[in-house]
Amino acid sequence: MIIGNFPNMIQLIAKPKIILQKSAFWIIAGLVFTILGCKGTQELSNPDGTESEIELPVEDQFTSEDSLNFLKLLRQKEAAISDYREAYPKDIEVLHVDLDLAFDFQKQSVRGIAKLLISPHFYETKEVFLDAQDFELGRISLINKDSTSKLGYQYDGKVIQIYLPEATGRDDSLWVEINYEAFPERNPTAGSSAITDTKGLYFIDPLDTIPSKPTMIWTQGETEHNSKWFPMVDKPNQRFTQTFALTVPDSMISLSNGVMVKQENLGNGLRKDFWEMNIPHAPYLAAVGIGNFGKVEDRWKGVPLGYYVEKGYEAGAKKVFENTPLMMEFFSDLLGLDYPWPKYDQLVVKDFVSGAMENTTLSIFMEELKLTEREAIDSEWDYIIAHELFHQWFGDYVTTESWSNLTLNEAFANYSEYLWNEHHYGQDVADLKLVAETENYFYEAETKQVNLIRFEYADSEDMFDSHSYSKGGAILHMLRKVVGDEAFFESLNLYLTQHALQSVEVHDLRLAFEEVTGRDLNWFFNQWFLDKGHPELLIEADYSQPENVLLSVYQTQDLNTTTIYKIPFEVSWYVNGERKVKTLVLERAFQQYALENTDAIDQVYFDEQKHLLALKSPGFTAEQWQKQFMQSQFGVARYEALDSLKAGDERGILLEVLKASLSDPFESVQESGLLTFISGQEWLLENPELEEQIFDLVNTSKNNSIRSTALDVLAANWPDKYYSTFKLLVNDPSYLVAGSALSGLVASSDRKLSEEELAKFELESNYRMIIPLAEYYLVNDVKAKGGWFTKKVETLSGDGMYYFLGYYGEYFSMNPEEGKEEALAFLLGKMKNDPQPGQRLGAFQALLGFADQEEVVEAMSRIASEEDDDFVKAYYDYFLSSLKFEN
Ligand SMILES: [Zn+2]
Repeated sequence: MIIGNFPNMIQLIAKPKIILQKSAFWIIAGLVFTILGCKGTQELSNPDGTESEIELPVEDQFTSEDSLNFLKLLRQKEAAISDYREAYPKDIEVLHVDLDLAFDFQKQSVRGIAKLLISPHFYETKEVFLDAQDFELGRISLINKDSTSKLGYQYDGKVIQIYLPEATGRDDSLWVEINYEAFPERNPTAGSSAITDTKGLYFIDPLDTIPSKPTMIWTQGETEHNSKWFPMVDKPNQRFTQTFALTVPDSMISLSNGVMVKQENLGNGLRKDFWEMNIPHAPYLAAVGIGNFGKVEDRWKGVPLGYYVEKGYEAGAKKVFENTPLMMEFFSDLLGLDYPWPKYDQLVVKDFVSGAMENTTLSIFMEELKLTEREAIDSEWDYIIAHELFHQWFGDYVTTESWSNLTLNEAFANYSEYLWNEHHYGQDVADLKLVAETENYFYEAETKQVNLIRFEYADSEDMFDSHSYSKGGAILHMLRKVVGDEAFFESLNLYLTQHALQSVEVHDLRLAFEEVTGRDLNWFFNQWFLDKGHPELLIEADYSQPENVLLSVYQTQDLNTTTIYKIPFEVSWYVNGERKVKTLVLERAFQQYALENTDAIDQVYFDEQKHLLALKSPGFTAEQWQKQFMQSQFGVARYEALDSLKAGDERGILLEVLKASLSDPFESVQESGLLTFISGQEWLLENPELEEQIFDLVNTSKNNSIRSTALDVLAANWPDKYYSTFKLLVNDPSYLVAGSALSGLVASSDRKLSEEELAKFELESNYRMIIPLAEYYLVNDVKAKGGWFTKKVETLSGDGMYYFLGYYGEYFSMNPEEGKEEALAFLLGKMKNDPQPGQRLGAFQALLGFADQEEVVEAMSRIASEEDDDFVKAYYDYFLSSLKFEN
């Protein structure tokens, strides 16, 4: 690699006056000498043959290590230029896209006529470059007033270069028509962990050959994949209005951006739907969904809302999406800007390649949101619904100008989950979710630390990481704390209105905040958005003067890679149950603060509400954690205290806190406490009052998750004693509760389930019921259930599928005569082809049960060698290498 820069060195040396700085000159000369020396020549000549007048260095003045380090430095500085990902140059703008599309289900292709309104941005041009991946092109014409004229073009399979008859300037616009057929299935490339494929447009079971799969078409444009099905400039800093005419089978409905204006019956079982989107948006936000969907109608103010899902799941969709109007109201109020689009549809599809996507007016969701009405009782999808909805402002209304600024979309969408939780479920729920988000980031930061806004990613898909999402959201929360709520939301309003329907970069956000607050915020944006890493803080408090506690804070992060932060923070304490708080600023590597608290205290809290993105070591003893648990008014602080005690070894103190946790007002604290008792039998035996308390939670808690966990504790410790409770609650409307009750029945040692009961549970489709039943069959070695296992594995998805795969594999390894070969084929197929990395991993884990067969291990190894997800691949390699060792 270093040798690759050799010609550059020569050029530098040829012009010594530009590198007169002595050391650099000598190091370069030394390097050239060394390299040429290796080649066995003493002559030093330039590429053009001229001799350079260079004095050779004194032998021992510089080592070759100096030379290499210098070269490395040069390489880094040059790479800063060559690797820079600039926002895509706007040579032309596509102002309107008119599409007439028909879908060939047999060939999985899209036949289209695209008419694009095009105008140069500033500079005159005679050529137009359009993204169009894997098309077969027909005629391309310029549309004149009454006629069309053929245009010449070149096409390399990715970009069409169209030659215009004459130079066109920014005051001109022209209509170009492109006849084409697009083949999204061609030239597949791997996506990212966030978006697992790049076809742009997906035919699901196009010929209706899989009974469990409905036939449908949907699209996924982000990042630059919509050019797999229509031609345009596929960059986020473009913006167009659109009219889409979609020819679809009569039996299906179509969905797209904007509103449907007309439907035309074509005969032959076909229909043409006309969609119009009059407000310009970015190319990656264009979308189409076609299928036999059921619809639930709703409304917020004058905006029609549609929740679309596979037929038969409408009642579930009504419940899953029921908070949408409330969210629209809340976000519109908060931002001072009403939902800015004419309608909002939410569509749940099969085999989606991501969690969900915020196409303008048409968000598309993975099938995990397809729930029956009963399943929807425990729906926990508010966060993803809020996330995509908030994108309609941040992402769709104002749009990142380049993937480098992706966090301008994703940090906001991520933070909307906090905002909605805070508003609807309360401060504690929001704060705990934020802690979980920061933990995502800290986990990623162990192996990857990059600037939040970054201009040198390898692939745009790499931007969809915990930096852009979790860290971004946490930074917005800190920004809110720095400027205050009123300024925060007023600044967001200014940013949205100033940049309405435009693309933005991070400075636009800063300037909006500066304009509203009248404060310079470069310090904040520089350290958090334009730099990498995070603070690591060591906190000490000296209580020797209890009425004037001395707080010391050290920034202990590695300063070779990370900056010293300026961090406004809160320190708090309690006097007779009343919370006192001071806001201070940390801006040095080590800083001390006299708190002047006046009342005598023996405990202070640094960032009690966990609002800072920082790794903190408060240095608390178990007694201090206990005190935090007992004192703090914040659920997140009590949760942290319990968590820290669970990780320690002060069992006595932990037990005291656990007892208190069961009646904590914050349900997540209750649940965390309960989980400890699943394996904490000795505590329960020594403290019989706990058993009663836990049993009470089963019956009195309003939270099904708590009731379910309490049942899990009973099932783990007294499966026979609570048989009648399980028997009763196995019919609870909540699957969380019923599933735990069924686990209890299954765990009961002496009373087996009757044939009648088994037959009833076998019909269930929810994995919370299916998994305990599978467990029952395995533990009791029940035969002739191969058909049931096969049927269930074909219908499950998401978490349920992941868990079930293990039972499925084990059943056929125990009962090979019932269809082991088919099971192996299924698992190997899943490991090879499932779009979700987690499911591929699940299939691999199930296959490990067959690892005594050489041909299975060989097949697994073959598939593993093609795996492109780093985490999954590392997991495969670890287990496969140990298998090979054993064999
Ligand atoms: Zn998002």
